[in-house]
Amino acid sequence: MMTPPCHAKIVATLGPSSDDLATITALAQAGADVFRLNFSHGSHEDHRLRLQRIRAAEVALGRPLGVLLDLQGPKLRVGRFAEGGAELADGAAFRLDLDTERLGDRHRVALPHPEIFAALQSGMALLLDDGRLRLQVERCGADFAETRVVCGGRLGDRKGVNVPDGVLPISALTPKDLADLDFGLGLGVDWIALSFVQRAADIEALRARVGARAGIVAKLEKPAAIDALDEILAVTDAVMVARGDLGVELPAEQVPAIQKRIVRACRHLGKPVIVATQMLESMVAAPVPTRAEASDVATAIYDGADAVMLSAETASGRHPVAAVAMMDRLIACTEADPLHRAALEASHTAPRPLTADAIGWAARSVAGLLDVGALVAYTHSGASALRMARERPRAPILGMTPCQDTARRLTLAWGVQPVWCRDVRDVDDMTALALETAAAQPGARGGCSVVIAAGMPFGSPGSTNLLRIAQLGDLPADPA
Ligand code: PGA
Ligand code: MN
Repeated sequence: MMTPPCHAKIVATLGPSSDDLATITALAQAGADVFRLNFSHGSHEDHRLRLQRIRAAEVALGRPLGVLLDLQGPKLRVGRFAEGGAELADGAAFRLDLDTERLGDRHRVALPHPEIFAALQSGMALLLDDGRLRLQVERCGADFAETRVVCGGRLGDRKGVNVPDGVLPISALTPKDLADLDFGLGLGVDWIALSFVQRAADIEALRARVGARAGIVAKLEKPAAIDALDEILAVTDAVMVARGDLGVELPAEQVPAIQKRIVRACRHLGKPVIVATQMLESMVAAPVPTRAEASDVATAIYDGADAVMLSAETASGRHPVAAVAMMDRLIACTEADPLHRAALEASHTAPRPLTADAIGWAARSVAGLLDVGALVAYTHSGASALRMARERPRAPILGMTPCQDTARRLTLAWGVQPVWCRDVRDVDDMTALALETAAAQPGARGGCSVVIAAGMPFGSPGSTNLLRIAQLGDLPADPA
């Protein structure tokens, strides 16, 4: 008998190691559900070709695939040096200013971001090159900062700068992001991820441009975003725990607890949460992960995260397909552990007193009482399927929808297998279609119950209000 797919989803970043059609297809076959187009790298033409190939793989596999456009956001960088870089000595003075004409040396370099100087105060820390170097601001003005090198090393041209303290007076959408966004929406991507979100208003500004054309993922990678977590979660559709920059802006030892807090908060709201960065990092070079990486993936799965993500492992690494296959096996093994179910139950919170949450909760109760083979959400917006996913049921959730965009977006949601289906006429027609779809799933068993949730009238978003229990008839014996 074929086993149904894993509940947790895999996001795979495309890049030079993986962006031909054969590899994209192999990644999806190995278990990738969503492909990430990272707009920090690559040209529009690269991304257009990637998207075309994802859509071709989708047709070949007959299963919806999601596409997540990741906007670079306000990544701050120092200017260039006369000699490509300079050695900053511990304890030395180092100056940053707006003079981009003058190349840098070991005493100074340009930082071409006036808004940063406006926000700096003495005592603040500046982190350079992914946190490898650390400066402390001693004196600053509108166009300069005099700093002390707390942790020195070699600083190269155009290296990144993180300002962990305070909220910076910058928008999370740069002119490059706006151009990338227009381009991506034109391509028809399913999700837009916004980097360096600091406040709910950053998400609202993106929403005003995106409308209903794509879902929004808030990348949580700044301390200010953690401080404003509840406000941000209230307005976003999904979240990424972006541990790369988060671990630069905050001490690494704080990242695990924050990860768990975010996953829990998202599960409470029923909004998809992705755990990202360095999950199988050593597989960029090696064919197997470290034991610690295997354990890290499992931790996210025990916590009930919707998705785990691969970055360089699939974008530029040597073993992109093996990395996805390894992640898929890690998810399958972890989900098969009885402790996984116990952990999900222990961390489950009571739903909010809303009709849609009540339907999801009722579906889960029915699944606990009857022999339920599948839960079906017939949904236009995807909301009914997300309500069911919130309850983290054991049985697969079939997210049936006549909207192809919704089917693709649901690829990110825990336990949801999106099915792009025809429009239905009425509840009887919907029930017949749900039973037909459930019977066609791998591992379907004749005689079991199918729990169906929908919103009446059909097509009005956010109206989940109907729960129906139907029986699967006798099925022909599984050929395998
Ligand atoms: P990035 O985001 O890869 O775009 O930097 C993820 C992270 O910071 O973890
Ligand atoms: Mn980042």
